[in-house]
Amino acid sequence: MTVYNFSAGPAVLPKPVLEKAQAELVNYQGSEMSVMEMSHRSSLYDQIIKDAEQLLRELMAIPDNYKVLFLQGGASLQFSMIPLNLAVGKKALYVNTGAWAKKAISAAKAVAGVDVEVIASSEDQNFTYIPEITKEMIDQDAAYVHITTNETIGGIAFQTIPDVGDVPIVADMSSNILANDYNVEDFGLIYAGAQKNIGPSGVTVVIIREDLLNEEPIFSPMLDFAVQAANDSLYNTPPTYAIYIAKLVFEWLKELGGTQEILKQDRDKAQLLYDAIDASQLFKSPVNQADRSITNIPFITGDEALDKKFNQEALAQGFQNLKGHRSVGGMRASLYNAFPKEGVEALVAFMKKFEEENGER
Ligand SMILES: *Cc1c(COP(=O)(O)O)cnc(C)c1O
Repeated sequence: MTVYNFSAGPAVLPKPVLEKAQAELVNYQGSEMSVMEMSHRSSLYDQIIKDAEQLLRELMAIPDNYKVLFLQGGASLQFSMIPLNLAVGKKALYVNTGAWAKKAISAAKAVAGVDVEVIASSEDQNFTYIPEITKEMIDQDAAYVHITTNETIGGIAFQTIPDVGDVPIVADMSSNILANDYNVEDFGLIYAGAQKNIGPSGVTVVIIREDLLNEEPIFSPMLDFAVQAANDSLYNTPPTYAIYIAKLVFEWLKELGGTQEILKQDRDKAQLLYDAIDASQLFKSPVNQADRSITNIPFITGDEALDKKFNQEALAQGFQNLKGHRSVGGMRASLYNAFPKEGVEALVAFMKKFEEENGER
């Protein structure tokens, strides 16, 4: 049976990447060692981490005045590390768009000396839309404005990046990094846990504008962006193997034609599913049409028992991890870069069949 993995994260990786990793697993480029066994200070490994950075710079067109860091602790550690580095003694502005934004907000509130203000929220409508942000809403003395570009659970995404004046935008891009047409220059800091659209869990990418690196050291060198940047992410042992896989994914993306090409494919895949949802009498998208995510697509029947039946039958057909997040129920298809179009076509066909069998009640 063909298995299609709709997991929101850790998520599907490109088959050619896994095959390359397999081919290189026990003997990396004639070294008679696995990448897992190598010193992070060896010249072979140095090339891997440098290539990873360089490829990501190319794919995202990252300007030279930004540092690229490969850190640990997931996107969740960034929820604390960012206010700790950027906003102590200052105001930090947050946009509350859903489950992940909420976590970022509560973590920031726990950092002593940070004055957290939520400037906009879509909680009034169960996070089904992206609230409007205007320059007038932004205190120009704030350290940053934090947004979650794509809410992985709710399935909404910023289609464009708001103009907030001179205050840097800090973005949690975990679930739509490398699947968007944003400009890096519009952000002061971008962060993303790798396990959604980059590689395996264990590495977190941080892209930070150099002027935002703190001058005063903070209490922990591991939590200090300036220390991590000065050491090129090698202050301590980085997640070496996860970075290596990320490098292979970046190579795969570049070969495929880069970010514009994959974005075309992502939009195409998402459109297939949204068209099926919109044409259906049974399935509905719970979110505002203009704010729809292309990487995480929730859908529901409106009947919990029927959702459950759908999920059970889908699973039996090889559609894995389609069940919606435990906090919202229903279904969710995560269609990251590595997810094949055939999987969406198969899902759409399955949905049609399910509707024929269960639609008239
Ligand atoms: C998954 C996710 C996180 C949490 O990532 P971890 O790496 O598990 O800490 C944070 N934000 C968003 C938008 C996510 O999708």
